[in-house]
Amino acid sequence: MTPEIQTWLDVGRKNLSEYYRTEFHENLRNPSRDYWTKVFEDYAEAAIVRVADLLQEAELQADGCMVLGGKTPRKVKFRGGRKYAYQFVHTVLTAMLTSYEDVVRHTCHNRNCIRPDHLISGTRADNYQDERDRRYLGR
Ligand SMILES: [Zn+2]
Repeated sequence: MTPEIQTWLDVGRKNLSEYYRTEFHENLRNPSRDYWTKVFEDYAEAAIVRVADLLQEAELQADGCMVLGGKTPRKVKFRGGRKYAYQFVHTVLTAMLTSYEDVVRHTCHNRNCIRPDHLISGTRADNYQDERDRRYLGR
């Protein structure tokens, strides 16, 4: 494992250990948030191990992207959920619950990339603009 991957995992472990339910938690519940809450609270270490496996499997490209093979973005099955690998990596490492309006964005415009520092949280409107930029760039 590279020192960089180890650092990302350490930060993820710290974020997960500091996760707590806010006072709004019950009001904001939905199946997706319930799923992630369960992952953060009950399966944190298993989730980190899965992220480690994905990052080690990914191929480091010349442009810095860490890419999983396949024509379309990889999905990850974990504890009853099925999420995009980039979404899984970002959500586990940041330990941040997202609402329906929130999405995981790629600063590199490569949807097969799972490199943690190429992934940011954003809104659906942001993502729409990203998609337009991505097409414009021919990626
Ligand atoms: Zn990337």
